[in-house]
Amino acid sequence: MAKVTVVGSGFVGMTTAQRVAEEDLADVCLIDVIEGKPQGIALDLMQSGPVQGYSSRIQGTNDPKDTDGSDLFIVTAGVPRKPGMDRSDLLDVNARIIQAVAGYIRTGSPNAIVIVVTNPLDTMVYLMRALLNADERRVIGMAGVLDSARYRAFIAMELDVSPECVHAMVMGGHGDSMVPLPRYSTVSGISIEQLLPMDRIDALNQRTRDGGAEIVNLLRSGSAYYAPAAASVEMARSILKHQRRLLPCAAYLRGQYGLSDIYLGVPCILGRAGVEKIIELKLEPAELSSLKTSAEAIKKDLNILETKGYLG
Ligand code: NAD
Repeated sequence: MAKVTVVGSGFVGMTTAQRVAEEDLADVCLIDVIEGKPQGIALDLMQSGPVQGYSSRIQGTNDPKDTDGSDLFIVTAGVPRKPGMDRSDLLDVNARIIQAVAGYIRTGSPNAIVIVVTNPLDTMVYLMRALLNADERRVIGMAGVLDSARYRAFIAMELDVSPECVHAMVMGGHGDSMVPLPRYSTVSGISIEQLLPMDRIDALNQRTRDGGAEIVNLLRSGSAYYAPAAASVEMARSILKHQRRLLPCAAYLRGQYGLSDIYLGVPCILGRAGVEKIIELKLEPAELSSLKTSAEAIKKDLNILETKGYLG
Protein backbone atom coordinates (compact mmCIF):
# COMPACT_ATOMS: atom_id res chain seq x y z
CA MET A 1 0.00 0.00 0.00
CA ALA A 2 1.04 3.57 -0.56
CA LYS A 3 1.95 5.64 2.50
CA VAL A 4 0.02 8.85 3.13
CA THR A 5 1.09 11.19 5.91
CA VAL A 6 -1.61 13.47 7.25
CA VAL A 7 0.00 16.40 9.05
CA GLY A 8 -2.20 17.77 11.82
CA SER A 9 -4.65 15.58 13.71
CA GLY A 10 -7.23 18.30 14.26
CA PHE A 11 -10.71 18.22 12.78
CA VAL A 12 -9.65 18.23 9.12
CA GLY A 13 -6.66 15.92 9.67
CA MET A 14 -8.42 13.22 11.65
CA THR A 15 -11.40 13.18 9.28
CA THR A 16 -9.01 12.94 6.32
CA ALA A 17 -7.15 10.04 7.97
CA GLN A 18 -10.47 8.30 8.59
CA ARG A 19 -11.57 8.66 4.95
CA VAL A 20 -8.20 7.46 3.58
CA ALA A 21 -8.34 4.40 5.84
CA GLU A 22 -12.00 3.63 5.16
CA GLU A 23 -11.28 3.53 1.42
CA ASP A 24 -8.17 1.35 1.93
CA LEU A 25 -6.45 3.99 -0.14
CA ALA A 26 -3.15 3.85 1.75
CA ASP A 27 -1.49 3.24 5.08
CA VAL A 28 -1.71 6.42 7.12
CA CYS A 29 0.84 8.20 9.28
CA LEU A 30 -0.91 10.86 11.36
CA ILE A 31 1.44 13.41 12.91
CA ASP A 32 0.78 16.30 15.29
CA VAL A 33 2.78 18.33 17.80
CA ILE A 34 0.35 17.52 20.62
CA GLU A 35 1.60 14.47 22.52
CA GLY A 36 -0.83 11.56 22.57
CA LYS A 37 -3.44 13.09 20.26
CA PRO A 38 -2.41 11.47 16.95
CA GLN A 39 -1.56 8.21 18.76
CA GLY A 40 -5.02 8.11 20.37
CA ILE A 41 -6.82 8.86 17.10
CA ALA A 42 -4.73 6.27 15.23
CA LEU A 43 -5.54 3.58 17.78
CA ASP A 44 -9.23 4.44 17.61
CA LEU A 45 -9.13 4.25 13.80
CA MET A 46 -7.28 0.89 13.92
CA GLN A 47 -10.05 -0.42 16.15
CA SER A 48 -12.68 0.72 13.62
CA GLY A 49 -11.03 -1.43 10.90
CA PRO A 50 -12.52 -4.77 11.93
CA VAL A 51 -16.03 -3.30 12.05
CA GLN A 52 -15.83 -1.07 9.00
CA GLY A 53 -13.87 -3.67 7.03
CA TYR A 54 -10.62 -1.97 6.08
CA SER A 55 -7.03 -3.05 6.46
CA SER A 56 -5.09 0.23 6.17
CA ARG A 57 -2.60 0.57 9.01
CA ILE A 58 -2.78 3.87 10.87
CA GLN A 59 0.11 5.12 12.95
CA GLY A 60 -0.02 8.18 15.19
CA THR A 61 3.17 10.01 16.02
CA ASN A 62 4.91 13.20 17.13
CA ASP A 63 8.19 12.17 15.47
CA PRO A 64 8.82 13.53 11.95
CA LYS A 65 11.13 10.53 11.26
CA ASP A 66 8.04 8.32 11.14
CA THR A 67 6.83 10.21 8.07
CA ASP A 68 9.94 9.23 6.05
CA GLY A 69 9.26 7.54 2.73
CA SER A 70 5.72 8.89 2.35
CA ASP A 71 4.26 8.91 -1.16
CA LEU A 72 1.82 11.69 -0.38
CA PHE A 73 1.41 14.33 2.31
CA ILE A 74 -1.87 16.04 3.16
CA VAL A 75 -0.92 19.06 5.24
CA THR A 76 -3.73 20.23 7.52
CA ALA A 77 -1.58 21.50 10.39
CA GLY A 78 -2.47 25.02 11.38
CA VAL A 79 -4.82 27.28 13.16
CA PRO A 80 -8.36 27.63 11.74
CA ARG A 81 -10.40 30.85 11.56
CA LYS A 82 -12.54 32.23 14.34
CA PRO A 83 -15.74 34.21 13.67
CA GLY A 84 -14.90 37.62 12.16
CA MET A 85 -11.44 36.50 11.01
CA ASP A 86 -10.26 36.57 7.43
CA ARG A 87 -8.20 33.60 6.20
CA SER A 88 -5.29 36.05 5.75
CA ASP A 89 -5.29 36.71 9.50
CA LEU A 90 -3.70 33.26 9.85
CA LEU A 91 -0.71 34.15 7.68
CA ASP A 92 2.05 34.44 10.29
CA VAL A 93 1.18 31.60 12.62
CA ASN A 94 0.53 29.12 9.83
CA ALA A 95 3.62 30.15 7.81
CA ARG A 96 5.78 29.08 10.74
CA ILE A 97 4.01 25.71 10.83
CA ILE A 98 4.52 25.23 7.07
CA GLN A 99 8.24 25.96 7.55
CA ALA A 100 8.51 23.23 10.18
CA VAL A 101 6.64 20.68 8.06
CA ALA A 102 8.54 21.48 4.86
CA GLY A 103 11.78 20.77 6.75
CA TYR A 104 11.03 17.10 7.25
CA ILE A 105 9.24 16.52 3.94
CA ARG A 106 12.40 17.74 2.19
CA THR A 107 14.73 15.42 4.08
CA GLY A 108 12.58 12.33 4.62
CA SER A 109 10.29 12.18 1.59
CA PRO A 110 11.94 14.22 -1.15
CA ASN A 111 9.82 12.70 -3.93
CA ALA A 112 6.44 12.93 -2.22
CA ILE A 113 3.46 14.75 -3.65
CA VAL A 114 2.14 17.35 -1.22
CA ILE A 115 -1.46 18.54 -0.93
CA VAL A 116 -1.64 21.68 1.21
CA VAL A 117 -4.89 22.41 3.04
CA THR A 118 -3.69 24.95 5.63
CA ASN A 119 -5.04 28.50 5.24
CA PRO A 120 -4.55 31.06 3.82
CA LEU A 121 -4.42 28.34 1.21
CA ASP A 122 -3.00 30.00 -1.90
CA THR A 123 -0.19 31.61 0.07
CA MET A 124 0.66 28.54 2.16
CA VAL A 125 0.92 26.30 -0.90
CA TYR A 126 3.20 28.86 -2.57
CA LEU A 127 5.36 28.91 0.55
CA MET A 128 5.50 25.11 0.72
CA ARG A 129 6.65 24.87 -2.91
CA ALA A 130 9.27 27.57 -2.39
CA LEU A 131 10.66 25.89 0.75
CA LEU A 132 10.74 22.44 -0.85
CA ASN A 133 12.18 23.83 -4.06
CA ALA A 134 10.15 21.05 -5.66
CA ASP A 135 8.78 20.44 -9.13
CA GLU A 136 5.63 22.55 -9.00
CA ARG A 137 3.48 19.68 -10.30
CA ARG A 138 4.10 17.90 -6.99
CA VAL A 139 2.85 20.66 -4.66
CA ILE A 140 -0.88 21.36 -4.96
CA GLY A 141 -3.41 23.33 -2.93
CA MET A 142 -6.86 22.05 -1.95
CA ALA A 143 -9.61 24.65 -2.22
CA GLY A 144 -11.37 24.45 -5.58
CA VAL A 145 -12.77 20.97 -5.00
CA LEU A 146 -14.26 22.20 -1.71
CA ASP A 147 -15.55 25.51 -3.10
CA SER A 148 -17.07 23.71 -6.11
CA ALA A 149 -18.62 21.10 -3.79
CA ARG A 150 -20.26 23.91 -1.83
CA TYR A 151 -21.55 25.45 -5.06
CA ARG A 152 -22.81 22.03 -6.23
CA ALA A 153 -24.60 21.46 -2.91
CA PHE A 154 -26.27 24.88 -3.02
CA ILE A 155 -27.37 24.37 -6.66
CA ALA A 156 -28.78 20.93 -5.77
CA MET A 157 -30.64 22.35 -2.75
CA GLU A 158 -32.07 25.20 -4.85
CA LEU A 159 -33.29 22.90 -7.64
CA ASP A 160 -34.16 19.99 -5.36
CA VAL A 161 -32.11 17.53 -7.43
CA SER A 162 -29.46 15.02 -6.46
CA PRO A 163 -26.10 16.71 -5.88
CA GLU A 164 -24.52 13.87 -7.86
CA CYS A 165 -26.05 15.29 -11.07
CA VAL A 166 -24.56 18.72 -10.41
CA HIS A 167 -21.13 19.66 -11.69
CA ALA A 168 -19.67 23.09 -11.12
CA MET A 169 -16.48 25.03 -11.49
CA VAL A 170 -15.13 27.56 -9.01
CA MET A 171 -11.79 29.12 -9.89
CA GLY A 172 -9.53 31.70 -8.28
CA GLY A 173 -8.26 32.06 -4.73
CA HIS A 174 -9.74 30.42 -1.65
CA GLY A 175 -11.21 33.62 -0.26
CA ASP A 176 -13.87 36.23 -0.77
CA SER A 177 -12.58 36.81 -4.30
CA MET A 178 -13.13 33.23 -5.54
CA VAL A 179 -14.81 32.99 -8.94
CA PRO A 180 -17.86 30.69 -9.29
CA LEU A 181 -18.50 30.08 -12.99
CA PRO A 182 -22.21 29.50 -13.79
CA ARG A 183 -21.35 29.08 -17.51
CA TYR A 184 -19.35 25.98 -16.60
CA SER A 185 -21.86 24.65 -14.05
CA THR A 186 -24.45 22.08 -15.10
CA VAL A 187 -27.11 19.66 -13.95
CA SER A 188 -26.61 16.48 -16.01
CA GLY A 189 -25.11 18.57 -18.79
CA ILE A 190 -27.78 21.33 -18.73
CA SER A 191 -26.34 24.74 -17.88
CA ILE A 192 -27.70 26.19 -14.65
CA GLU A 193 -28.30 29.38 -16.64
CA GLN A 194 -31.19 27.53 -18.34
CA LEU A 195 -32.59 26.26 -15.06
CA LEU A 196 -32.36 29.25 -12.73
CA PRO A 197 -32.99 33.00 -13.03
CA MET A 198 -29.88 35.19 -12.84
CA ASP A 199 -30.77 36.71 -9.45
CA ARG A 200 -30.90 33.23 -7.88
CA ILE A 201 -27.58 32.30 -9.50
CA ASP A 202 -26.05 35.50 -8.10
CA ALA A 203 -27.33 34.57 -4.63
CA LEU A 204 -25.84 31.05 -4.92
CA ASN A 205 -22.53 32.51 -6.10
CA GLN A 206 -22.41 34.75 -3.03
CA ARG A 207 -23.40 31.95 -0.65
CA THR A 208 -20.53 29.90 -2.13
CA ARG A 209 -18.04 32.74 -1.55
CA ASP A 210 -19.28 32.95 2.04
CA GLY A 211 -19.54 29.16 2.39
CA GLY A 212 -16.66 28.79 4.85
CA ALA A 213 -17.67 31.80 6.96
CA GLU A 214 -21.29 30.59 7.19
CA ILE A 215 -20.04 27.42 8.90
CA VAL A 216 -17.46 29.26 11.08
CA ASN A 217 -20.25 31.52 12.36
CA LEU A 218 -22.53 28.57 13.11
CA LEU A 219 -19.84 26.51 14.87
CA ARG A 220 -18.50 29.53 16.83
CA SER A 221 -15.20 27.70 17.33
CA GLY A 222 -13.36 25.86 14.54
CA SER A 223 -14.19 25.66 10.88
CA ALA A 224 -15.60 23.13 8.40
CA TYR A 225 -14.00 19.71 8.20
CA TYR A 226 -16.22 17.03 6.64
CA ALA A 227 -16.29 18.58 3.17
CA PRO A 228 -12.64 19.76 3.36
CA ALA A 229 -11.56 16.21 4.24
CA ALA A 230 -13.72 14.71 1.47
CA ALA A 231 -12.23 17.18 -1.03
CA SER A 232 -8.65 16.43 0.05
CA VAL A 233 -9.24 12.70 -0.31
CA GLU A 234 -10.78 13.12 -3.78
CA MET A 235 -7.49 14.73 -4.85
CA ALA A 236 -5.41 12.04 -3.09
CA ARG A 237 -7.43 9.28 -4.76
CA SER A 238 -6.97 10.76 -8.22
CA ILE A 239 -3.20 10.93 -7.63
CA LEU A 240 -2.67 7.55 -5.95
CA LYS A 241 -4.90 5.66 -8.38
CA HIS A 242 -3.75 7.72 -11.37
CA GLN A 243 -7.39 8.45 -12.18
CA ARG A 244 -6.61 11.68 -14.03
CA ARG A 245 -9.72 13.44 -12.69
CA LEU A 246 -10.25 17.00 -13.82
CA LEU A 247 -10.52 18.98 -10.59
CA PRO A 248 -10.14 22.65 -9.68
CA CYS A 249 -6.95 22.92 -7.60
CA ALA A 250 -4.52 25.63 -6.58
CA ALA A 251 -1.70 25.14 -9.10
CA TYR A 252 1.42 27.10 -9.92
CA LEU A 253 0.89 29.26 -13.00
CA ARG A 254 3.45 30.12 -15.64
CA GLY A 255 1.52 32.40 -17.95
CA GLN A 256 -1.79 30.50 -17.98
CA TYR A 257 -4.69 32.95 -17.81
CA GLY A 258 -2.09 35.70 -18.20
CA LEU A 259 -0.74 35.07 -14.68
CA SER A 260 2.70 33.98 -13.50
CA ASP A 261 4.54 33.03 -10.32
CA ILE A 262 1.37 32.51 -8.32
CA TYR A 263 -0.73 29.61 -7.02
CA LEU A 264 -4.36 30.03 -8.06
CA GLY A 265 -7.40 27.78 -8.40
CA VAL A 266 -7.62 26.47 -11.98
CA PRO A 267 -8.92 23.24 -13.55
CA CYS A 268 -6.21 20.57 -13.39
CA ILE A 269 -5.85 16.93 -14.33
CA LEU A 270 -4.50 15.09 -11.28
CA GLY A 271 -2.59 11.83 -11.71
CA ARG A 272 0.50 9.97 -10.61
CA ALA A 273 2.78 12.94 -11.32
CA GLY A 274 0.56 15.39 -9.43
CA VAL A 275 -0.75 18.20 -11.63
CA GLU A 276 -0.41 16.50 -15.02
CA LYS A 277 -2.09 19.28 -16.96
CA ILE A 278 -3.62 22.70 -16.37
CA ILE A 279 -6.71 23.35 -18.51
CA GLU A 280 -7.08 26.85 -19.92
CA LEU A 281 -10.80 27.59 -20.21
CA LYS A 282 -12.01 30.27 -22.58
CA LEU A 283 -13.15 32.94 -20.14
CA GLU A 284 -15.29 35.95 -20.95
CA PRO A 285 -13.75 39.35 -20.16
CA ALA A 286 -15.74 39.76 -16.90
CA GLU A 287 -14.74 36.26 -15.71
CA LEU A 288 -11.07 36.86 -16.53
CA SER A 289 -11.18 40.21 -14.78
CA SER A 290 -12.61 38.54 -11.62
CA LEU A 291 -9.82 35.96 -11.77
CA LYS A 292 -7.21 38.71 -11.98
CA THR A 293 -8.79 40.54 -9.02
CA SER A 294 -8.55 37.29 -7.07
CA ALA A 295 -4.88 36.94 -8.05
CA GLU A 296 -4.20 40.48 -6.84
CA ALA A 297 -5.57 39.62 -3.37
CA ILE A 298 -3.19 36.64 -3.20
CA LYS A 299 -0.23 38.72 -4.38
CA LYS A 300 -0.86 41.06 -1.42
CA ASP A 301 -0.45 38.15 1.02
CA LEU A 302 2.62 36.92 -0.88
CA ASN A 303 4.17 40.36 -0.53
CA ILE A 304 3.60 40.21 3.23
CA LEU A 305 5.28 36.78 3.34
CA GLU A 306 8.20 38.14 1.33
CA THR A 307 8.55 41.26 3.51
CA LYS A 308 8.58 39.11 6.65
CA GLY A 309 11.35 36.96 5.19
CA TYR A 310 9.47 33.66 4.92
CA LEU A 311 10.34 33.25 1.25
CA GLY A 312 14.09 33.47 1.89
P1 NAD B 1 -7.58 22.21 14.20
O1 NAD B 1 -7.20 23.30 15.12
O2 NAD B 1 -8.71 21.30 14.56
O3 NAD B 1 -6.31 21.27 13.93
C1 NAD B 1 -5.06 21.75 13.60
C2 NAD B 1 -4.04 20.76 14.16
O4 NAD B 1 -2.75 21.13 13.66
C3 NAD B 1 -3.97 20.77 15.70
O5 NAD B 1 -4.17 19.47 16.21
C4 NAD B 1 -2.54 21.27 15.97
O6 NAD B 1 -1.96 20.71 17.13
C5 NAD B 1 -1.84 20.79 14.70
N1 NAD B 1 -0.53 21.41 14.49
C6 NAD B 1 -0.13 22.68 14.76
N2 NAD B 1 1.17 22.82 14.43
C7 NAD B 1 1.60 21.64 13.95
C8 NAD B 1 2.83 21.17 13.42
N3 NAD B 1 3.91 21.95 13.32
N4 NAD B 1 2.90 19.88 13.01
C9 NAD B 1 1.83 19.06 13.09
N5 NAD B 1 0.62 19.45 13.57
C10 NAD B 1 0.51 20.72 13.99
O7 NAD B 1 -7.86 22.89 12.76
P2 NAD B 1 -8.65 22.27 11.51
O8 NAD B 1 -10.08 22.63 11.60
O9 NAD B 1 -8.27 20.83 11.36
O10 NAD B 1 -8.02 23.15 10.32
C11 NAD B 1 -6.68 22.98 9.96
C12 NAD B 1 -6.25 23.99 8.89
O11 NAD B 1 -6.95 23.71 7.67
C13 NAD B 1 -6.57 25.45 9.22
O12 NAD B 1 -5.51 26.29 8.77
C14 NAD B 1 -7.83 25.72 8.42
O13 NAD B 1 -8.02 27.09 8.16
C15 NAD B 1 -7.52 24.93 7.18
N6 NAD B 1 -8.67 24.60 6.33
C16 NAD B 1 -8.50 24.76 5.00
C17 NAD B 1 -9.51 24.45 4.12
C18 NAD B 1 -9.31 24.60 2.63
O14 NAD B 1 -10.28 24.60 1.90
N7 NAD B 1 -8.10 24.71 2.15
C19 NAD B 1 -10.74 23.98 4.63
C20 NAD B 1 -10.87 23.80 6.00
C21 NAD B 1 -9.82 24.11 6.86
